Amino acid sequence: MVQCEMCGKEVVSPKDMKIEGAVLRLCQGCSRFGIEIGNTKTKSVETKYQIGPRRDTNKQVGFKKQKRRMYNQMKEVDLEFNEKIRQGREERGLSQVELAKNLNERASLIKKLERGEVLPTEKVRKKLEKYLKINLLEDVE
Ligand SMILES: [Zn+2]
Repeated sequence: MVQCEMCGKEVVSPKDMKIEGAVLRLCQGCSRFGIEIGNTKTKSVETKYQIGPRRDTNKQVGFKKQKRRMYNQMKEVDLEFNEKIRQGREERGLSQVELAKNLNERASLIKKLERGEVLPTEKVRKKLEKYLKINLLEDVE
């Protein structure tokens, strides 16, 4: 036996119904308040009442594009960037603190970068590349 999530009545075969976006197990009596899941007839009614469904689609496409852009940005940076930064710094005989000072950045950021914990932002990457004369981007064919 399952309890109806609306009235608390014990039911043998509850119905999964959608009410205001949430799925509830309801008894026969309460099920009329919700939309039955997988019921195409109800779904088409739902669509009819939607105002401007196209607008939602556009929003989704925009978000996808943004995500792809972020992903590409991450891919651009060489995965061994942390090694490159450390090597470049050591070749110049600089400590992490000294390098940070020269770049006007925090030493904690340099530490994190060298541990590969964070990706350099474009600004930081350019500063590092210029200062250490290294290339932190993936080799492009
Ligand atoms: Zn009920």
